[in-house]
Amino acid sequence: MSVLLPGATIGVLGGGQLGRMMALAARRMGYKIVVLDSSAECPAGQIASDVVVASWSDAKAAVELAKRADVVTLETEHIPADVLDEVARHTVLRPGASVFRTIQDRAVQKQFLDSLSIAQANWLSVNSAAELAEAVQQRGELIVKARRHGYDGKGQARLQSPADADAAWQKIGAVPAVVEAIVPFVRELSVVMARGVAGDVAVYALAHNVHQHHVLHTTVAPANAAQVTCDQAVALATTIAHALDHIGVLTVECFELADGSLLVNEIAPRTHNSGHYTYGACVTSQFEQHVRAVCGLPLGDPTQLVPAVMVNLLGDLWARGEPAWQHVLQRPNARLHLYGKAKPAPGRKMGHVVLLGNDVERELADVDAWLRALGNA
Ligand code: AMP
Repeated sequence: MSVLLPGATIGVLGGGQLGRMMALAARRMGYKIVVLDSSAECPAGQIASDVVVASWSDAKAAVELAKRADVVTLETEHIPADVLDEVARHTVLRPGASVFRTIQDRAVQKQFLDSLSIAQANWLSVNSAAELAEAVQQRGELIVKARRHGYDGKGQARLQSPADADAAWQKIGAVPAVVEAIVPFVRELSVVMARGVAGDVAVYALAHNVHQHHVLHTTVAPANAAQVTCDQAVALATTIAHALDHIGVLTVECFELADGSLLVNEIAPRTHNSGHYTYGACVTSQFEQHVRAVCGLPLGDPTQLVPAVMVNLLGDLWARGEPAWQHVLQRPNARLHLYGKAKPAPGRKMGHVVLLGNDVERELADVDAWLRALGNA
């Protein structure tokens, strides 16, 4: 396939906020966007030229999308790999289906990381409550994670002893799972990068992520990390992307240990919440970067021009009605992003704010106060 220039059509599987922000970047650059999602009013659908309304597992609908698009890409890793094979029979699919076969199943993903000798928490597959009980008996406290379809801590449970096994097994839905040792991490860091069709890579600065109730709360970039940690992040992300033969943006979530070394938590073969700050703070946002990669264009410059703090806006902020946006909009360095979701729900990602400027510590100190003001509308 030759390079796809503006005017070409990009098909996107999944219509959430990641698809929306990718679509905004693509539309700005002159590409057309067709989205497949179960709702025509989904966040990406509001920006697209057209929406194929169907479930993610509908192979026929995915083929219809493929026929309308010069290239198809994804905003989620949860599209069944068989559906992706169908898409690839009709148009160019980037990243390829093999990437998702490796990532979708936590056990396969972990085997893949082991095969590359990339450090991660000790792990084991478990297929029943009895096996889970035995694992915690032998290994002590651990986390069990469903092999498929988990995100934001869903499909996970923590166990201290065999007595917890039955409840934990039910909590994850009694499905094949992996157990992981508890990692005594000091911080959670992520590295967002892109790999182009020619195998070229562009890596963004390491980002520091703070979660609340398993959902990302804030990202600070660049993370205040030692050079050796930054170098390790670049090396492991690049190794992973090449080994997957990945095309597009890819994110590696890591645990930083007390000695500054990194263990990989998980791989997301797509743009990522912890890369939202790149829009505004970097020469090329992660969303334009993904468009560039899947269209076969040269990658853009990932250099960060200004430090940034990203704050997620969850549906809880809408408990008393529409948030009092003036508390964000009156800040000259704040960029507000709302995803166009009709129904706020507790824990649901509705938007985010990126604060740009050198005084990261002060911005962080203020976050809780203005979030409270937003929610007290
Ligand atoms: P995940 O969905 O795998 O990203 O896990 C959600 C969150 O749970 C992570 O961001 C960590 O805060 C925590 N977590 C997951 N796995 C582990 C682990 N092996 N040890 C300690 N904390 C973990």
